[in-house]
Amino acid sequence: MNRRYKKLRIEKRNRLFELAYIDPITGLGNYNAYLARTKEKLEINSKKTMIILDIDKFKSFNKKYGHMKGNELLKRVGEEIQHSIRKTDIVCRLGNDVFGIFLIGEVDVENITRRLNNKISRINIGDIWYNLRISMGVYICDKNEKDVQSIIDKAIMAHDSIKGKYHVQYGVFTEEFEQRLIRESEIENMMEDAIKNKEFEIYYQPQISTKTEKIEGAEALVRWKKDGNMISPGEFIPIFEKNYFIIKLDEYVYKKVCENMQEMKTQFKDIPKISVNISKESLTEKDFFEKYMRITKQYGISPSDIEIEITERTTVDSNIDMKEILEKLKEKGFYIVIDDFGTGYSSLNMLETLPIDTIKIDKSFIDQIGEKNESINLLEIILLITKKLNLKTIAEGVEKSEQVAYLKKENCDFIQGYFYAKPLDFETFKSYVKGNKQYQ
Ligand code: C2E
Ligand code: CA
Ligand code: CA
Repeated sequence: MNRRYKKLRIEKRNRLFELAYIDPITGLGNYNAYLARTKEKLEINSKKTMIILDIDKFKSFNKKYGHMKGNELLKRVGEEIQHSIRKTDIVCRLGNDVFGIFLIGEVDVENITRRLNNKISRINIGDIWYNLRISMGVYICDKNEKDVQSIIDKAIMAHDSIKGKYHVQYGVFTEEFEQRLIRESEIENMMEDAIKNKEFEIYYQPQISTKTEKIEGAEALVRWKKDGNMISPGEFIPIFEKNYFIIKLDEYVYKKVCENMQEMKTQFKDIPKISVNISKESLTEKDFFEKYMRITKQYGISPSDIEIEITERTTVDSNIDMKEILEKLKEKGFYIVIDDFGTGYSSLNMLETLPIDTIKIDKSFIDQIGEKNESINLLEIILLITKKLNLKTIAEGVEKSEQVAYLKKENCDFIQGYFYAKPLDFETFKSYVKGNKQYQ
């Protein structure tokens, strides 16, 4: 074979290797390279730590400064990572704005994540400096772990676990985390059948007027009974919100509530208003109004018999036009309650501009009654402002008589909590209502 030809062949092979393994933007290895190199290192008998590093809002950087600058930035980030780790460690660009790091030997996670953050959060291209925000997922490998993909998955899950937590820079995959994931997937496996098998049941918690001491309303709260055990909504609702099953569940609960209300209407001369929790995921579905109005009509219920509870957190979500949704709800005749008020950082302005009827004060404020501190001042102020704006107020999680006395004194309109009644199954709830003269 002549020399020239041989040289060409080697060049071609190198070129193919580059295409397959090198990221042209940063000159680092790409995803394939990361898989291959990490796999090799797994054979080494020492501690190994994976970090998945993500540049937040890289898209906006690209938009603002252009793709060329974006590419230069990625290159600089790659360089800074390389400077922060040992020669024997690995760094590759896995895609877009995500870097994979693999550290061999003892590592102080707190230390290395801080170092990476310091180097990258303020970074220069030439003599121009930029502020960036990064987030990281960390996984410390088990001794005998050999499956690179599962290691990457765990580091990504650790990263996902800090999504939305703006002040947290990194998440670590822990044993407890793993247990939670196992439980989460158990719940996900059971949920589809749960509706079919009628495992969800609606409980009703009475809401008492502070003026008349009588029941004026009730909140519908879902319960999941599985093989004689009760799974708490505090556990499954957040999972359903993540995987959007909540859309199905909310609709199911709403339907059941309407069905129960229809039944009560035939037995009582009047029925209390029922509050239903509706999640952000349901509210923003495009056929939400059509579906819910259809159900309301089907059971002969008037929207004015129903209160829709929306958390304060949902109302401040900048991705949705809350005003439009709430106005439409009002137009149909529903009452609107802002749930967990005081925990979601809404502005006072919102109370004036959104068509709200009632503010539900979060339990954390109620728990402070009797103690002299700032939260109590805040509670007083909330009650004053809502009165000024002609909004009704309801306190939730009220357990003690001194809380009741305080809320009466400060003119809170309604009280919900164990002090009066726990959430009751439908039959017990009906007896409770029957015991109240106004509804007989
Ligand atoms: P939430 O809407 O804030 O409901 C109030 C929670 O406080 C309920 O917990 C209720 O049982 C509990 N509670 C009521 N009074 C007291 C009290 O005096 N002391 C204490 N310690 N707790 C009290 P639950 O039923 O476990 O529900 C938890 C959360 O699950 C609810 O919080 C709500 O966000 C969600 N949820 C429940 N049912 C539904 C539903 O049908 N759809 C949606 N989207 N979410 C629901
Ligand atoms: Ca609620
Ligand atoms: Ca609440």
